[in-house]
Amino acid sequence: MAETIFAKIIRREIPAQIEHEDEMCLAFHDVAPQAPTHILVIPKKPIPRLTEVTDADTPLLGHLMRVATEIAMKLNLANGFRLVVNCGTDGGQTVDHLHIHLLGGRSLRWPPG
Ligand code: AMP
Repeated sequence: MAETIFAKIIRREIPAQIEHEDEMCLAFHDVAPQAPTHILVIPKKPIPRLTEVTDADTPLLGHLMRVATEIAMKLNLANGFRLVVNCGTDGGQTVDHLHIHLLGGRSLRWPPG
């Protein structure tokens, strides 16, 4: 797998505003926020996209969702928030390192574009 900018953020070679870190994941603020709160939760394991997740990664996926929800609560998004995973070209994925977008702080429209 080709190196991504997120691998460099994990290794602290590129700065990011980090919100959470544990042994399995890192969460940091998106550099181009689409909502007042826009955080990316990424596994430290360099999985390119959802279609390359294996059965062994199932607990990791659950962990990412739990961490995203805990961050949402910590950042006072109790009124609501959205988790998004873009997958592949049509899904709008631009960085080939699996990530969950946590969006909140405003009323979000549906359906997304
Ligand atoms: P996606 O389009 O779903 O692959 O999302 C990639 C996200 O990464 C976009 O929302 C970008 O704004 C964000 N992004 C790209 N580079 C950086 C960076 N250096 N620090 C934080 N977020 C980034």
